[in-house]
Amino acid sequence: MDHFQYRDGVLHAEDIPLPRIAEEIGTPVYVYSRATLERHAQVFRDALEDVPKKHIAFAIKCNPNLGVLRVLARQGYGADVVSGGELERALAAGMAAEDIVFSGVGKTRAELAQGLDRGIGQFNIEHEPEGIALAEIALAKETTAQAVLRVNPDVDAGTHAKISTGKAENKFGVGIDAAPEIFDRLAGLPGLKMRGIALHIGSQLTSLAPLEAAFERVGRLVADLRAAGHDITHVDLGGGLGVPYRPDDDPPSPAEYGAMVARVTKNWDVTLMFEPGRVIAGNTGVLLTEVLWVKPGATNPFVIVDAAMNDLARPALYDAYHDFVAVEPTGEKMTASIVGPVCETGDTFARDRTIDRVESGDLAVFRTAGAYGATMASTYNSRSLVPEVLVDGDRSIVVADRIAAGTIMAAERVPDWID
Ligand SMILES: *Cc1c(COP(=O)(O)O)cnc(C)c1O
Repeated sequence: MDHFQYRDGVLHAEDIPLPRIAEEIGTPVYVYSRATLERHAQVFRDALEDVPKKHIAFAIKCNPNLGVLRVLARQGYGADVVSGGELERALAAGMAAEDIVFSGVGKTRAELAQGLDRGIGQFNIEHEPEGIALAEIALAKETTAQAVLRVNPDVDAGTHAKISTGKAENKFGVGIDAAPEIFDRLAGLPGLKMRGIALHIGSQLTSLAPLEAAFERVGRLVADLRAAGHDITHVDLGGGLGVPYRPDDDPPSPAEYGAMVARVTKNWDVTLMFEPGRVIAGNTGVLLTEVLWVKPGATNPFVIVDAAMNDLARPALYDAYHDFVAVEPTGEKMTASIVGPVCETGDTFARDRTIDRVESGDLAVFRTAGAYGATMASTYNSRSLVPEVLVDGDRSIVVADRIAAGTIMAAERVPDWID
């Protein structure tokens, strides 16, 4: 359920007709709906009703916009961050330091120190040397880092290879069989309070089975660690729940996920932590674009839009599908390939797809672009950095400016020793 609906034949974001945003801000532009974001945050929390002790940290890598984060902070969400930059964003958006979890396989010593200085709630340790470094830094600062050990449960998440993270060959976490010994050694270090386990097996999961298998393995590990005398108070179950991108996609609902979690973790007696990203933000945003040209092709025509792979990278990166609909559909259809202006064939959003008939000058949107959209944007081909707009009822505001190609160029210089 989202708040991008047609009214009188015109696609709206809440109460705002999208043509108005195109006129005022120009295209391409991301448009987010606050009501949708809040609804998703509530639905996910409600789905965990049967989990007695919980902490929800939005995985801000999927949408780190400050306006978006502020909406979620007001919903009581913390943040899962994967860099020092994201850490500062979470704080700037008003998230409490103790509600911040620091994930990521390549945290630098400087970032570990930054996390300690900011007083964040938890570090998710990816391997033993990182834990040792964190303990040293904490000790030097005369403080104690709250930490959990990320394990790699070796399950196939059944998603795209580039966003699978829980197979033995992936770079994340420590092998679950090696975890008890590593945990034991880290737990003995002054400066570190090892309080539990974390896992995250991948993103855009469309089945609960791999999650359940992974959670069961972690449940056994928790029992083993307790039997070895460790005090386990937290388990971080990560994120990964998928969203529907195609009209007929039917991923598990948050309610089904929550019921599975409650069942599998019933006797764990820990605070469960969650790091949802896409399931919160995915359907809260669209990428609004204008059709530049419709050009004949060898088989079907090319619909050339003013958004490109630098604005929305997922199709080029993961062959991802984003629904494409006209803002003012006529009811007629056409079969076309949808492409952007960037000078490579990778800049293709869809091949030979049946879509609303569009012409030069028409507006259209890529749906489900609120997660892993703007945050992955670049200025490839010296295009501007795409702006973002947040809609709330009948008001809208630019929450990220378009950064002009000239502004990017102004940060560069030609060495004066090149003559
Ligand atoms: C990316 C990521 C998430 C969020 O994944 P979603 O599929 O967007 O829910 C959560 N935790 C970690 C450690 C991640 O890397």
